[in-house]
Amino acid sequence: MAKTRKSRALNFIDYPSPNFDERNGEAVEFLVLHYTGIETLEGSLERLTSKNAPRVSAHYVEAEDGRAFRLVSEDKRAWHAGVSFWNGKTDLNSKSVGIEIQNAGDLHSPPPPFPQAQMDSVLALCQQIVRRHNIRAFNVVAHSDIAPDRKQDPGEVFPWAWLAQQGIGVWPKPLKQDYDASANWKDDDVLKRLRQYGYNPNLGLKVTLTAFQRHFHQEVFATPEKVGIADAQSKARLAALLRSKTKADKAIATRKKNAEKRMRRRK
Ligand SMILES: [Zn+2]
Repeated sequence: MAKTRKSRALNFIDYPSPNFDERNGEAVEFLVLHYTGIETLEGSLERLTSKNAPRVSAHYVEAEDGRAFRLVSEDKRAWHAGVSFWNGKTDLNSKSVGIEIQNAGDLHSPPPPFPQAQMDSVLALCQQIVRRHNIRAFNVVAHSDIAPDRKQDPGEVFPWAWLAQQGIGVWPKPLKQDYDASANWKDDDVLKRLRQYGYNPNLGLKVTLTAFQRHFHQEVFATPEKVGIADAQSKARLAALLRSKTKADKAIATRKKNAEKRMRRRK
């Protein structure tokens, strides 16, 4: 039965969108997750394939019942991210695969949950995409991470922790050292670290931290006055993520250096 599950998301329903262009040689480095923010699947598919302005699309749409629709081929540039920034890179459309997850989002308060059948399909699709393009875990991002001043999706009820448990994306596990290291961070220190983690350096603390919490500290959304405030838990989670990202960055740099050494020896 494991085999059936593995090949499940390969049964795409082709639903071509005319809204794409060329990647112009850019490699896929990012996976961007969205909610559609539209009440029905039919409405979302219509919007993402319409030639009416503003023209938008995504590579895939995940229905609530777990059906996966393929709108744009992964070798093309779909139009899902808009003006965007992550970890020093802009124009994420050229460098990412985008998945739209059917969910009415902020049309409802609180936003509706993501059914397990849908998440199982999202997971299977993410696993394929990450493997295919060798996307690093820190580059599996929310639309709200790469455009905090414009976007909220996939929102504060999206199960990022569960996805990370299944091996997609990252989830902070703060240790005592992270609480200690971040205890005295002032607002400016928090903002500096958020930018170091990958967020757009041109945005302020409140909007940036709100995006961070939407992904990594969703509990604060139960209490609106806590949103965008750097409490001990948000700071420790940020410290934990930065610690593991710095370690991962170093490992990548070492691998690159060793590969270069091998190349030189071969010459
Ligand atoms: Zn979006």
